Amino acid sequence: MSFTRYKVCLQFIVTFAVLACVPTLYFLNEHAKIDKRALQTVEQNNIHKLEYAKAELQVSIDQIITAASSLSNNGLLHQAILNPTQENLENVSYLWLLVAKTQGVYSQLRFIDSQGMEKIRVNTSELRSEIVAPYDLQYKGDRKYFAYAQSLKRNQVGTYGIDLESERGQIVYPLTLGYRVIVPIELGGKRQGYFVANLDLKRIYKSLAYKRNTNNLPTIFSGNGYYILPNDGTRILGNIIDEHKEYSLSKQYPSLWRRIQLTNSGTVKEGDSWFSFIKTDITHTSTKEPLIFVLESDLSDIRPIADEERSELNTQAVFLLIIIALITFSFVTWNYNHEKNSMASKIARAAMNGMSAVVITDHNNRIIQVNEQFTKSSGYTLDQVKGKQPTVFSSGRHNQEFYMNMWKALETKGIWEGEVVNKRRDGSLITEILRIQTVTDKQGTIQFYVASFIDISHRKELEDQLRELSEKDPLSGLWNRRKFDTEIVSHSQRIKRYPDSEHVSLALIDIDHFKRVNDKYGHDIGDKVIGEVAQTLSTHLRETDIIARIGGEEFAIIMPHTSLDEAEVVVNRLRIAVNIESDLNITVSGGVTDICSKPGDSYKRADIALYESKTLGRNQVNVMASAEANSIA
Ligand code: GH3
Ligand code: MG
Ligand code: MG
Repeated sequence: MSFTRYKVCLQFIVTFAVLACVPTLYFLNEHAKIDKRALQTVEQNNIHKLEYAKAELQVSIDQIITAASSLSNNGLLHQAILNPTQENLENVSYLWLLVAKTQGVYSQLRFIDSQGMEKIRVNTSELRSEIVAPYDLQYKGDRKYFAYAQSLKRNQVGTYGIDLESERGQIVYPLTLGYRVIVPIELGGKRQGYFVANLDLKRIYKSLAYKRNTNNLPTIFSGNGYYILPNDGTRILGNIIDEHKEYSLSKQYPSLWRRIQLTNSGTVKEGDSWFSFIKTDITHTSTKEPLIFVLESDLSDIRPIADEERSELNTQAVFLLIIIALITFSFVTWNYNHEKNSMASKIARAAMNGMSAVVITDHNNRIIQVNEQFTKSSGYTLDQVKGKQPTVFSSGRHNQEFYMNMWKALETKGIWEGEVVNKRRDGSLITEILRIQTVTDKQGTIQFYVASFIDISHRKELEDQLRELSEKDPLSGLWNRRKFDTEIVSHSQRIKRYPDSEHVSLALIDIDHFKRVNDKYGHDIGDKVIGEVAQTLSTHLRETDIIARIGGEEFAIIMPHTSLDEAEVVVNRLRIAVNIESDLNITVSGGVTDICSKPGDSYKRADIALYESKTLGRNQVNVMASAEANSIA
């Protein structure tokens, strides 16, 4: 993995972690709260259920009490009390049997006379209902509820319970809760006895479950924590039944029990279950003992609620994390590009301030930017050239063709490189190695020209000096043989290319009997003579002519735009001048020819002509034209 990629990845991870940190903490916190909230929901539901069950039970009991008290006001009953014939008693019994069967909420309906003797009694249960035969009727005057009945005022409806049904002093099995509605009956200004309806609490309680279509009924405990109405219907009233005494809230659920002592409702964890409870009392009870409604929930009640919330929270978390990832991605990309761009602009600035002078022009070739180096090289500041075209730097050293080729290359290749001589602000010339590059837009249209150059003026000067040194003859100050060879080759080439161009003539000049000069005056004087002859020759030549010392005391002259005849005249004039200006009566001989396409041939012809001058007596000039040579050949 490259360093950049590694860096970008790291940046992504760090940014993502930072951005995701707070939401993650939030979600973790929410997750932790879920169970708590689910429990709260369950608790709330349970409390509602408990309240509802309590209200239902109360309403049911109230209704039953009302119904029972209206039974006590029944005319048939009153008739049977006042006139207890067998028929009258049976009429009441049958009516009660019918009522008991249809209503299904009573376990006994009785009339007990003021002495405590049962006079009419109907027993009823889910399984069977019966009229109790007269010989089975019992004396109840010794029972506590009878004493309670006696205490009731006229028209007062009393309730008595909750205890266990017992017959003849023995607890009835299966255990049956005793809860009695008692109405004193007074007829003819005299208390005749008591209507006593025993309510079948278990059936009433079960009918609640039936009505509410649920099996999850609360368990009802007595105020002292013993079961009254458990779901399974057993182990009730451990305070009365010895073998049930272990079954109580205080023994089985001590934490719950402690809590119940403190508050009227709440939820307590006991073992693996949660218990919600409310404390209440059913009105009309004589004892006023509170009832405790308890509803048990295990974790399976909480889990579905928690799971649903958890999956919702997870969906939100995933969604949020995706958004954070996208934001992070955008940020990292932006940052990466920003860094790259700022790096690119740093590079561009560094490039602008490098060794090269830079000029940037727009699509109209107007200057928009220059760098410091440009100002140093050219003397122009940006303000002085902004909006101008680079032609202001033009030195006039290059022809139109040069510039046309430059523009053509820029348009076709987008780049041009070459050596250019321009002008500085102070008018001095500057030789540059120039490179121009175009910058195009997406459509390929040129938008900018970036020209960079290096000032090579100084180098160029040195080069020129060196070249001159290598091409000059130190003794005479004339060009040397090498320069002569280069020049004659270049003239020959031009003639070869443009045969009809102007004539160029070549002359070879040799000092006559120079050995004698040396011999007579010495070598140093000989050298001096060579210098003087050279001086005479160059003084009498045109500037465009090229004169070189090509041998010991031999000179060659290239004369552009000069015909053979003219050249002959020129060389004769030189010959005479040398002789006149010489103190030692020096003479020279010359050979003249026209330069043709072959430099070797031209030289040879001139040499032949010179030789001819020598042989014909010296101090003269002979001509050999190329046409002449051809005809000889
Ligand atoms: P001519 O040309 O008339 O036939 O006779 P010449 O004596 O000049 O003969 P040539 O041209 O063949 O001889 C050239 C002589 O010039 C030979 C040499 O001694 C002398 N010489 C050549 N180079 C130099 C030089 O640089 N300095 C001096 N002092 N003498 C030179
Ligand atoms: Mg000579
Ligand atoms: Mg010679």
